[in-house]
Amino acid sequence: MALALLGGSPVRTRPFSAWPVSGADEEHALGDVLRSGVWGGYHPSVKALERAFADLHEVPYAVSCANGTVALEVALRAAGVGRDDEVIVPPFTFVASATAVLLCGAAPVFADIDPHTLNLSPRAAEAAITPRTRALVVVHFGGRPAEMDAFTDLARRHELKLVEDCAHAHGARWLGTPVGAWGDAGTFSFQGFKLMTAGEGGMIVTRSADVAELCWSYCNQGRRPDGGWFEHVRLGTNYRMTGFQAVVLQAQLRRLADQTRVRAANVAYFRTGLRNFPGFAMDAEDPRIEQHPYYLVTLRCRPASLSGLPRDRAVEAMQAEGIPAKPTYPYPLYRNPLFRRESGVLGRGERSRAPQDYAQLVLPEAERVCRDGIWLSHNLFLGDRADVDDILLAIEKVQQGASLLLASRSHAARPSR
Ligand SMILES: *Cc1c(COP(=O)(O)O)cnc(C)c1O
Repeated sequence: MALALLGGSPVRTRPFSAWPVSGADEEHALGDVLRSGVWGGYHPSVKALERAFADLHEVPYAVSCANGTVALEVALRAAGVGRDDEVIVPPFTFVASATAVLLCGAAPVFADIDPHTLNLSPRAAEAAITPRTRALVVVHFGGRPAEMDAFTDLARRHELKLVEDCAHAHGARWLGTPVGAWGDAGTFSFQGFKLMTAGEGGMIVTRSADVAELCWSYCNQGRRPDGGWFEHVRLGTNYRMTGFQAVVLQAQLRRLADQTRVRAANVAYFRTGLRNFPGFAMDAEDPRIEQHPYYLVTLRCRPASLSGLPRDRAVEAMQAEGIPAKPTYPYPLYRNPLFRRESGVLGRGERSRAPQDYAQLVLPEAERVCRDGIWLSHNLFLGDRADVDDILLAIEKVQQGASLLLASRSHAARPSR
């Protein structure tokens, strides 16, 4: 079994399951919206989607909006986050988890992740609390629910607001309760690669009538739900979702449970097979996770068990085998140029507004997973066991050929004539 990177034939040449998935449901519903003449945010499907999405997450309220970034910003504002506040966020996540805080005029404070869950560590979060801390943003990274019992306890003891970034975690459940239902609000994204998608879109779920009303108002020009069309009681904007998005998302919601079941079964099978390959590790199963939608599977590359083969070379070898594995984020969020002092993002010259010197920050667990993490995306697990067997076979080839791959590296690095 020669490695494809070294001239052998690849494990796989056909593609994995495509994403997004759509069918007659989406097509018919889009035609209905088109013919209704109500194309914008006042099509009845928007309210129907909100109802169904609230039910899925077992909360009384859901407010739709334009995307997941706006959902976070609006949820944080509704939770009372504003100027001069600090909000604790994890550094191993998509940039929106932190920029939404900045868009509210507040400052993100990064606290390290737990090496096993890859979610914000409750202990690190607690250690980052200062008198200016107003809220926590907890991300259910890759679909794995964060330790919400610990975070709700932390928020209660320190009187902090708790916003769950559920952009990867549609329908996930922890200890009997869905994500989004633990905190003051939970936010979702329906961007093109997310587990339910209309290309773009977002949702805020909450148990609080007040938070729901504020979120609705911010997304609807500062109106009151029962107020006049031209009566604006606060500074809001137009963050509405359209009827076209809502009907597509209703159809996507009907597919979610089956797709989640398929992914869970395939990941369980993958997990068992992976035990034979010490160069690649995966987080342990956790009985407190009741539903894990597996937006991303993050493998940890262990060069010590791969003859010292670097992560990037292992990824390259998997890709050559026809498996679209990817390295994780290149660096933790705080290393982005956005967070350099000269970007002015925290206000030029207002030193007091920068709670951390982001350029000097080193959060070891986030740094580590940016060096050794490998992502397998959800669509790889939406097919059958033969797909999973191919991923495992590619991993087996890399495991067994690691020293050959390492030797070939110096070869490839030789300057060409
Ligand atoms: C996708 C994503 C968002 C933002 O969602 P958009 O709909 O793209 O604005 C926020 N947080 C996380 C963790 C995400 O992956």
